[in-house]
Amino acid sequence: MDFKPEVFTPSYWMEVPAIEGQLTRPRDGGGVLVIGSGLAGVSSAYWLREAGFDDLSMIDFALPHAATFRNCGHILYGTVESMQAMVALHGREAAREIWEFSIGICHEVRDTIKRLNLDADYKQSGYLVMAIDETEDKEIKESIELLGSMGFENHYVDAAKLRQLGFKNVHGARFEAGSAQAHPMKFRNGVLQNCLDNGLAYHSNVKVTAVEEEGDHVVVVTEPWGRLRYDAVVVAANAYNPLLSRYFAERRLVEPFRGQIITSKPLRHDFKVRHPHSFDHGYEYALVTDDNRLMIGGWRNNTPGGEVGTYDIDPNENVVQGLKDFVHQHYAINEAIEWEYSWAGIMAASKTGFPFIGPTTSPRIFTCAGFTGHGFSWAHGSAKLLADIMAGNPIPAVSKYFNPKMA
Ligand SMILES: Cc1cc2nc3c(=O)[nH]c(=O)nc-3n(C[C@H](O)[C@H](O)[C@H](O)COP(=O)(O)OP(=O)(O)OC[C@H]3O[C@@H](n4cnc5c(N)ncnc54)[C@H](O)[C@@H]3O)c2cc1C
Repeated sequence: MDFKPEVFTPSYWMEVPAIEGQLTRPRDGGGVLVIGSGLAGVSSAYWLREAGFDDLSMIDFALPHAATFRNCGHILYGTVESMQAMVALHGREAAREIWEFSIGICHEVRDTIKRLNLDADYKQSGYLVMAIDETEDKEIKESIELLGSMGFENHYVDAAKLRQLGFKNVHGARFEAGSAQAHPMKFRNGVLQNCLDNGLAYHSNVKVTAVEEEGDHVVVVTEPWGRLRYDAVVVAANAYNPLLSRYFAERRLVEPFRGQIITSKPLRHDFKVRHPHSFDHGYEYALVTDDNRLMIGGWRNNTPGGEVGTYDIDPNENVVQGLKDFVHQHYAINEAIEWEYSWAGIMAASKTGFPFIGPTTSPRIFTCAGFTGHGFSWAHGSAKLLADIMAGNPIPAVSKYFNPKMA
């Protein structure tokens, strides 16, 4: 086991401190417990309260490891798969329904920010998906046509325009105007603060080792507080789910994998591109921060094993070098770049390619987990769906793809 809770390098987003829970014994005896306080955990607590649940607790462990503080701030339409891959895997109608759902949940993030009046640096400025070779350029053109034929707006940007935007060695791109970006720590803290103001009991440094149904309640085995009892539990620990949920471990529903990001010091460079962008089928993804830093992640596909199967968040120096070289190759920046931050985080590769949302073997043990590179919107939107499932509200037909029991 390479999970070392005490070891971590901070991310750029962690310049804003995470709100942490109390260090006392969590209250128990009833109510609903949410395990995990990343985007999925706080969103579950938020939507559950909105759905009418008022006895809510949340716990976490090794909080600084959460992927929520270690991502690139993209809020993207779609899933980790391209539309072509989705159609090939699930058929055209299912792919269209899932894409539409993904748009709805991106808008859910925007609407929550508005409703709660959060300062989360949210900008709906679109997303540029760039091709770094001819084959990818062809795929991008096909993708634009396919998405367009399904009624999803997006358009082609040619190489000359990309050069004007300050890129090099790129062939063309797909631009999609609805995607967005935000500060993940500010968003998570804002939603969490709303929950705390409305009575959420939140405790940190509670390590869950098992979650089991016992009679008419759920027992959560913890260190250091022993066995805690609740009426129902939501397991929202994403890549860490298999370490505390037998259901996830036995079925191998998710596999941890490490993503990595580097971030420069503020640059003098006049970035013409101000929206999230990616290259090479999304394997490299980047953002220009409000204080004019270049944040870029990815490159794991160039490593042996692809960084799969690890909980170690020590940055891999080969990836760091790969990312620096990638910037040199693809950005026309005429100044020496000093890199200030380098960090890694653990995401969950899901067995089905989708998150798992709903009850597991027990009707009292629920999950909201299985998020990869699109987790910002998916975690928030999935939590809303979970709250509707738990409250017995009507749910969209598309939910069947996320049913943990069908995996
Ligand atoms: C490098 C990188 C770049 C990314 N870029 C993007 C991006 O640009 N856009 C995007 O949409 N997504 C991106 N993602 C993915 C996104 O960050 C995740 O999908 C999302 O944050 C998952 O949120 P979560 O709450 O499910 O999990 P996490 O944020 O990982 O939270 C897990 C929670 O479980 C708790 N926990 C773990 N073990 C235990 C235990 N034993 N007991 C109790 N609690 C426990 C932790 O304390 C934590 O609170 C990126 C991820 C990485 C790593």
